[in-house]
Amino acid sequence: MSESRPVLFLDRDGILVEVVRRGSVISSARSWEEFCLVAGAAELVSQWRQLGFFTVLVTNQPDVARGFLCPQLLEDFHRELLRQIPLDAVEVCVEDGCHWRRKPNPGMLLDAAANWNLDLSRGILLGDRQSDVLAARAAGVRPVLLSTDYNLQEVAESGELTVIQRLDQLTGLLQSTISSVGHNPLGG
Ligand SMILES: [Mg+2]
Repeated sequence: MSESRPVLFLDRDGILVEVVRRGSVISSARSWEEFCLVAGAAELVSQWRQLGFFTVLVTNQPDVARGFLCPQLLEDFHRELLRQIPLDAVEVCVEDGCHWRRKPNPGMLLDAAANWNLDLSRGILLGDRQSDVLAARAAGVRPVLLSTDYNLQEVAESGELTVIQRLDQLTGLLQSTISSVGHNPLGG
């Protein structure tokens, strides 16, 4: 069996795809008009892959179970996402409520690790929500939180957690993870 690879898990909404604001609610795209990739995301993901990370999108899309988004449109969104952003794999959970694959549970991360022979001890998850942080910790992966204008409370309560202000700040963290093989730098 070949050696397992370091992995970078990326949340979708708020990281690679713009969130959609419905009044005070932070939501996700339900139409092509609402589906906007984050500027510069494709170039960054390309850089992160070149550092040696297997990149996996891990996204909760409960709007499917709630009847706000048809599964075919979600598939079409992800086909377009993959056309523009060079991710290695996509894990989606369309369930609502408590489901073992739905973040904050670690099922999507564990499934990806098993399918692709990924080294979770050299894993990082970048997200914008507490559910991302909890899923990462449950899978033994280092969580990193992107600070936004809607997650100030999550950032304030983040404690020991690594918080970045801009997407490109992840690059340095990934470089130090790759270069410190031999001891485990990953706390979080
Ligand atoms: Mg998100």
